Amino acid sequence: MTEHDYDIAIIGSGAGGGTMAQELAPLCKEGVRIVVLEKGPRLRDDEFSGREIEMAQALYEEGGGFLTADGSMTLAMGCGYGGSTIVYTGTSLIAPRRVIERWNVPGLDYREIERRSRKFMEENNVHYLDDELINENNRLFVQGCARLGYRAQQFPVNVNGCQGSSLCNLGCPNRAKQGTDRVQLPRAESAGVEVVTRCEVLRVEGRRLVARVSGKTADAKGEPSAWEPGDYRIRAKVVVCCAGAVNTPALLLRSRVPARLPRLGHGFTCHPALILVAEHERPITNFVGHPKSYYLDQFVESDGFVLETCMYFPFTTSKSLSGFGEPHAALMRAFPRLQMILVLACDRIDPRNRVTIDRRGRPVVRYRFTPEVKRALAAGTRASARIFFAAGARRVHIPAAANPTIEANASDRLDTDLDPDLFRPGSVTVSAAHLQGGCGMGLTAQDSVTDSYGRVHGVPWLFVADASLFPDALEINPYLTIMALADRVAQRIRQEARELLS
Ligand SMILES: Cc1cc2nc3c(=O)[nH]c(=O)nc-3n(C[C@H](O)[C@H](O)[C@H](O)COP(=O)(O)OP(=O)(O)OC[C@H]3O[C@@H](n4cnc5c(N)ncnc54)[C@H](O)[C@@H]3O)c2cc1C
Ligand code: SF4
Repeated sequence: MTEHDYDIAIIGSGAGGGTMAQELAPLCKEGVRIVVLEKGPRLRDDEFSGREIEMAQALYEEGGGFLTADGSMTLAMGCGYGGSTIVYTGTSLIAPRRVIERWNVPGLDYREIERRSRKFMEENNVHYLDDELINENNRLFVQGCARLGYRAQQFPVNVNGCQGSSLCNLGCPNRAKQGTDRVQLPRAESAGVEVVTRCEVLRVEGRRLVARVSGKTADAKGEPSAWEPGDYRIRAKVVVCCAGAVNTPALLLRSRVPARLPRLGHGFTCHPALILVAEHERPITNFVGHPKSYYLDQFVESDGFVLETCMYFPFTTSKSLSGFGEPHAALMRAFPRLQMILVLACDRIDPRNRVTIDRRGRPVVRYRFTPEVKRALAAGTRASARIFFAAGARRVHIPAAANPTIEANASDRLDTDLDPDLFRPGSVTVSAAHLQGGCGMGLTAQDSVTDSYGRVHGVPWLFVADASLFPDALEINPYLTIMALADRVAQRIRQEARELLS
């Protein structure tokens, strides 16, 4: 086994890990050795082909098909240089004050989250898209909402030179999306931080990491790792886990962490989401332009859902529709006429929903839809259908309804045919991309895993700085809040560097 010595090891290179790398990089000038260990590959610019299956295999954990334990939901996580920020859409919102206040983490103030989020908004060029980049799919959402008196809002997005190719979730082929792969990681590397890709950390054993570097197969995308394939032991004085809300809890559960952490893996939430489609009479531009420009959050507090515009690719769309054979094929043939909306349920922590590991130490996510989540999905579906009809759709496809096609002249069926109990596990395609919790922040090991600076209770050299820190769901798109929290953790590590690294 090859051995390496570093002062600081960061595990994962996504929203949390990329931020951590950039914010700790100034320490390199003082001779501090920092490494980022990333399980996934680093792709060359010319490898972003926009082809759905090929890019999903290259950039997502398990090709985008990671399922919860009962098979009822797919969890989407990016896996590569930049983590999920390679495949995110780049919508950039600051956490709502009410959520940070509800989290009630001692020492964590809303104004601080806001200030740190704004720093990354500026760094990532967050702005509202010009009108000409708003496609018809988005315009129809705005029109439908306006006719119903709903308050649709425009998403600020973090793009620079967007060409409107609509491929954000397959990795931007135009270098426009400002994820950590484009902004924070290159800056960290030029300041002296090393990034080792294809390097999976298997266990944390005290201040030693056990890791495995995989070779690049002939047909795989991406550069080979900087290290030869094989097993490694990496000594580090400080370890920062940024492997995401599924993989950080799983890594710590299979590690020898010298502390009792009864809350480890608990508090997992993910904003379960449904993709809904509606058919218009004429083609609409849906797969050209930025895919996600508007959202509606006015029903969060009353009904627990948020609606977002979206555009998915043929495979993802087809698996989101219910039915088989000719009716399914007919809907897919209508692809150029489809309007799409994503319904997100704002789930809350539930004792049954958590990250565990199997006998081989692999992550297992136990997740059951609570009655509140089913009600939110049903209410969000109804609101979406009304928006589709108000925007002029001829028929709406409702996967959870007894008869999934509802014609415009039968819209009263929305009130009778859509029972929350129809959201049975496995009966409707539900997916989630906002994975949160599992190492929640708090005051003591009885109520949480880390303190408000991401330090694992009872282990002074071990930190967490990713979405797993959230003590409960955020209710909005999370990446800016993750960066803000990672920034706060990095500042604490810099302040204590002398002591921690001695
Ligand atoms: C398709 C999609 C669209 C999204 N759109 C948006 C959006 O528009 N706006 C928004 O705010 N949020 C969005 N999100 C969510 C956002 O991208 C994530 O919440 C955020 O990136 C999570 O940050 P993280 O640091 O916790 O984990 P990640 O960014 O997922 O990074 C974790 C990294 O750790 C690596 N890793 C895991 N295990 C190990 C290990 N054992 N050893 C080494 N490396 C490991 C992974 O390969 C990965 O690269 C989206 C997510 C997806 C998947
Ligand atoms: S829509 Fe813009 S940000 Fe998204 S993939 Fe295309 S060019 Fe990149």
